Amino acid sequence: MHQGIMKAWIESSHLNGANSTYVEQMYEAYQEDPQSVTEDWRVVFDNLPPASGTTVDVPEASHSKVRDYFRSLALDGRQKGSPKVTDHEVDAKQVKVLQLINAHRFRGHQNADLDPLNIWKRDTVSELDPAFHGLDGDDMEREFNTGSFAHGGETMKLADLVKALKATYCGSIGAEYMHITDTDEKRWIQQRFEPSLGAASYSKTDKTRILEGLNAAEGMEKYLGAKFPGAKRFSLEGGDALVPMMREIIYRAGDAGTKEVIIGMAHRGRLNVLVNILGKKPSELFDEFAGKHGDELNGSGDVKYHQGFSSDFETPGGNIHLALAFNPSHLEIVNPVVIGSVRARLDRRGCDTGLQVMPITIHGDSAITGQGIVQETFNMSQTRGFKVGGSIRIVVNNQVGFTTNMTEDVRSTEYCTDIAKMVQAPIFHVNADDPEAVAFVSQLAVDYRNEFKRDVVIDLVCYRRHGHNEADEPSATQPIMYAKIKKHPTPRKIYADRLIAEKTMGSDDVTSMVNDYRDALDHGDCVVKEWRPMTLNSVDWTPYIGSEWNDPYDAKTPMAKIKNLVGKISYVPDSHKLHSRVAKIYKDRLAMAAGEKLLDWGFAETLAYASILEDKKRIRITGQDSGRGTFFHRHAVLHNQNDATAYMPLRNIADDQGPIDITDSVLSEASVLAFEYGYATAEPSGLTLWEAQFGDFANCAQVVIDQFLSSGEQKWGRLCGLTMLLPHGYEGQGPEHSSARLERFLQLCANHNMQVCVPSTPAQVYHMLRRQVVRPMRRPLVVMSPKSLLRHPLAVSSLEEIAEGTFQNLIGEIDEQDASKVDRVVFCSGKVYFELLERRRKEGLDNVALIRVEQLYPFPLDEAANILAQYAHVKDYVWCQEEPQNQGAWYCSQHHFWSVIPAGAQLSYAGREASAAPACGYPALHAQQQESLINSALKLSK
Ligand code: AMP
Repeated sequence: MHQGIMKAWIESSHLNGANSTYVEQMYEAYQEDPQSVTEDWRVVFDNLPPASGTTVDVPEASHSKVRDYFRSLALDGRQKGSPKVTDHEVDAKQVKVLQLINAHRFRGHQNADLDPLNIWKRDTVSELDPAFHGLDGDDMEREFNTGSFAHGGETMKLADLVKALKATYCGSIGAEYMHITDTDEKRWIQQRFEPSLGAASYSKTDKTRILEGLNAAEGMEKYLGAKFPGAKRFSLEGGDALVPMMREIIYRAGDAGTKEVIIGMAHRGRLNVLVNILGKKPSELFDEFAGKHGDELNGSGDVKYHQGFSSDFETPGGNIHLALAFNPSHLEIVNPVVIGSVRARLDRRGCDTGLQVMPITIHGDSAITGQGIVQETFNMSQTRGFKVGGSIRIVVNNQVGFTTNMTEDVRSTEYCTDIAKMVQAPIFHVNADDPEAVAFVSQLAVDYRNEFKRDVVIDLVCYRRHGHNEADEPSATQPIMYAKIKKHPTPRKIYADRLIAEKTMGSDDVTSMVNDYRDALDHGDCVVKEWRPMTLNSVDWTPYIGSEWNDPYDAKTPMAKIKNLVGKISYVPDSHKLHSRVAKIYKDRLAMAAGEKLLDWGFAETLAYASILEDKKRIRITGQDSGRGTFFHRHAVLHNQNDATAYMPLRNIADDQGPIDITDSVLSEASVLAFEYGYATAEPSGLTLWEAQFGDFANCAQVVIDQFLSSGEQKWGRLCGLTMLLPHGYEGQGPEHSSARLERFLQLCANHNMQVCVPSTPAQVYHMLRRQVVRPMRRPLVVMSPKSLLRHPLAVSSLEEIAEGTFQNLIGEIDEQDASKVDRVVFCSGKVYFELLERRRKEGLDNVALIRVEQLYPFPLDEAANILAQYAHVKDYVWCQEEPQNQGAWYCSQHHFWSVIPAGAQLSYAGREASAAPACGYPALHAQQQESLINSALKLSK
């Protein structure tokens, strides 16, 4: 033992206020990471008996030895008088007391009273027992220093301290926060939690408000149950406290100055939230139960428990706009949608703290732990492109997943919320039968989120009074649980009895509250007294509603403007040292800007963004490599080789230009695409783009494409102008990096729900991107974007084509050709066009015309008719594609081709044979297949 240990021990002996806190802080740090404390202290702590969460496992005997040794060192060091042995015993016990406090902070939640049904079996945590720490009967009457425990004075009788610890950490709230490494955050939570022993004292008004929430939650479900017996409503009953919880959160957010709260939730309790929080009229809901629907939607509509809603809500701190996001059945996928919507609103408000717009996501206990999208969303929560200043995440934990048992079958973690620890979110487990505890954590959660701008979780431990839906018989699979539930009083009854017992309310008051609510439902009008008509909506969607893809528009950019912009996008300050390969690209861009070189893809695409920014519109681009571009073609974000700073030419277009964010995304497709969908459905005026690294990766986000992008407008009337860039093309890269699965998108096309484009030239990409913003129609744009075409010598355009052209949905023959000699017309899309063209030129064929379909959906029938007019004599039409026959456009688009060719003409297929895999893996086989399909399209025998 060296001198340093002795000094440390002596300094901390008699652990008075400051010293004990210091030791305790170090001990906590040591428990997180033994290497984070100095070696002196590591040795001291290594030799203490094991406590929860520690990595040491030292037998008590060795600790005694060390302690005795320290005691003798302390005796030697104290120099004044003859120290009493009892002092040193107290010293040792004092350390144990601090360990006991720490054990409660770490593990108190494991013995908290969380389960209203009391069926959740939990092991007793021995570290929470004073005896475990060697603190016995006599010690209970002694005063000990309480370190940083923020209740009472500096010292407390151990018996009182134990009581206070139990009340704080083992009552109706189980606070899990010691996994957070930031000491300030932990201290903040302790300061909020410990002084009041994990509870707040509520006034009569507060208590009445809380009971009103429970009364509304229960009243609503009972009313629906009686009026529409057996109809699916995914009752909230058992988790009724969600309603007062949401109200507390919204009130607290109002106090903090929040202007919008965006909510995402699945079906459980949704009708209750719609009526009791958002203020949807009960009469409208009843009409939906009766099978009626309003005329405002022309689409297919959706079931009532997927519907969204918007309203304003008055709080003492100011009105808040509430929006409940529309939601498909697919659990948890709405979360990134909500976060994306929040980010769009924050960006629009210029608020980068997150304060003005707050997300609340409501999860199921099985889903939050089972669905990977939750992990993806947590992972986004602190990243540059996706953060929103934290989300309030609520779990309606009814301890059963449909019919699956919670502990044995649904998860492998202790809590369903363990996933939140990956971002060190604090987690407050709370017994839903104690609505005051629920209100307490609700306020705490809002304050934590606003203070630290990070996610926070409330685990509302409750039960489900009925089956998964009201037609189910839950006793068949959960007999013990449901026997208990049948006898268990409702949360409203429990709380009302409590208020009556403590004389806050009389039983008559309680009965009238029940009757008044039922009468209000009978009446059918809004039951939320804070409801206000929407006035805070900052976006007017009316200019976009009812617009169609073929409405006329003017997206032209005059040459003078183009010339100004090309200079701006090619300029890089001399001080910003580029990598040599990037410098070469920018040198070429200068030549393109000067008109010395034809424009390539990257230049035209960047120019499109510049023109949109100059129009003061916002642009947001995300994707896994969107700054550079997967294929090294974009280079919108330039990295200084000397100091790694970034320069974006697109941010330097004009003083009053629109804002642009180009951010490399987290390595996910589902959550990022869902986020961008949410962003684009809340921000119609600009251009929102998501780029897949390779197009086939989009199939990881298939649920977003199916449930939101392709069908959201039809189901929910929600417009979305998101653009998806999906690199696509058969270049011998194997089954996974060839196809963006064009067929999947085409199969989803109907009712002009989205556009599927395959632009083949730089000018086309320019016009396509501009059109997406300038034209008022807001519908998803799915782009099969190129790879090798990015640098193809024929895929170039002139500045004139940019300034004077427009997007061509179909491009006819470009070579001088006598149409009367043509006996075959080949339709195609994308890069295969250039292979056909080169081969035709090489072979000197003058009998085959090539027509590029640049927009496969909506199919441009009129333009096709115009171009085909000159080939009225032709009987032989071919669709040529690189994809296998069962993929690509052949099956999904051929009815369009049939509809534009002359009556009696034939349409045949030139492409790869049907195949289970999208592409072959052998380069030689790829080349052979490619040669064969070109030959077949051009009627060449070779
Ligand atoms: P929100 O701010 O999401 O609550 O939306 C307020 C109102 O704007 C809604 O009630 C709709 O009328 C309209 N709105 C919002 N988003 C869209 C959208 N993506 N498409 C069409 N209308 C929308």
